[in-house]
Amino acid sequence: MGWLGLDDTDSLEQGCTTFTFHLLLAGLPDAVEVLSPKLVRLWPFAQQRTRGNAAVAVELKTEDEEQLLEYLETFWSQNIAPFAGRRSESHHDSRQQYPSDPGMVWFSSERPEEAFYTASVRHEVQLSDVPPATRSWGGQGRIGATAAVCWRERQPTWEAIVWRTLERHGQNERFVCEATLHRIDHLPSTFLSRDPRKGTSFVAPRGPCPVLFGIRARDADTAQRAGTELRNAEQTEDSIGMRVFVTNQATDDHLSEPVQSTVLSTEVLNRGSTCIVTENGQWMAFEESGPIKLLAQWLRPGDVIEGNGLSPEAGVMHLEKLRLISSVPSRERPKCDKCKVRMKSMGSGQGCRCPKCKVRTNDVWNEVPRVPPYPSWVQPPHGSRRHLAKPLEW
Ligand SMILES: [Zn+2]
Repeated sequence: MGWLGLDDTDSLEQGCTTFTFHLLLAGLPDAVEVLSPKLVRLWPFAQQRTRGNAAVAVELKTEDEEQLLEYLETFWSQNIAPFAGRRSESHHDSRQQYPSDPGMVWFSSERPEEAFYTASVRHEVQLSDVPPATRSWGGQGRIGATAAVCWRERQPTWEAIVWRTLERHGQNERFVCEATLHRIDHLPSTFLSRDPRKGTSFVAPRGPCPVLFGIRARDADTAQRAGTELRNAEQTEDSIGMRVFVTNQATDDHLSEPVQSTVLSTEVLNRGSTCIVTENGQWMAFEESGPIKLLAQWLRPGDVIEGNGLSPEAGVMHLEKLRLISSVPSRERPKCDKCKVRMKSMGSGQGCRCPKCKVRTNDVWNEVPRVPPYPSWVQPPHGSRRHLAKPLEW
């Protein structure tokens, strides 16, 4: 037995790591037993990231490792190596695309500790950090491939992925039965199948990718049943295969413990994105982060907050979770006892005066507790969350 990992084949002819993996598994020698495949999302800011920054791995059992290695060697040289170096044609990601540099690793009998996975999901790692495999192929992709092998699933989720027939690869539009999708989406165990606010499908990727759809669920059985149902629905286009992957999606594996800090100042930037300057560096609440952005804009110096997110550079955190711990009160002038209108300041040290009856008081303030827009943790709306982000309600 051993562990196989694969990554960064997104730019290959068939254009998707999961599909290349599906073909690889489908062609394995009969004697090889395939355990459940894994789909692992990694550090989203990786410099040479592929589109979804996902890598795949699987545990394989065989009595004949030589035969297996021979097969892997042939598969690599025929289906992966010739296409390395191509750039993917992505229509929905304007970031710089690196030419693909796929990698494949085989760990015979033992796999490395989970530490390499944790590092690969929480920050940038280098090729030189990769624990040596029994056999490995390719380049940069060995990072993700090894990280996927090292992942120990604790509270994983599952995703049933269905691939389109070959003649449909490269076509942008997809046909997935809406009525079935709607029903599946309301099963208690499925999640993120669609963006509930926009009513748009979240399961089917855009663009020419070979994936027809993916159904995410909190248990393997639901992923299997729901994926099969949607695949077989009359109005769903033909497909050539389905596999249920165990995944680190929605696990929060990318996050460390939250940080508590005091607000020093806030600055609203372009389109409402807000920078919170705290005693622990700058915390960024981006435009698309919804409630996080609104809470960030509400903050005042002295408020104490707790946040969590990733730091693509030292001293900057991109908020994925935020909550208020305590807020400084706001101050307002008292109301006139008689007229019930707000007193006005007469100028510095001059006291206050009722604008109606002109009665005067000392220079007094009332402290009023501020009411935050959200009483507890907030996170971005479904459509703006990372694949790795765990919903708060879990
Ligand atoms: Zn008055």
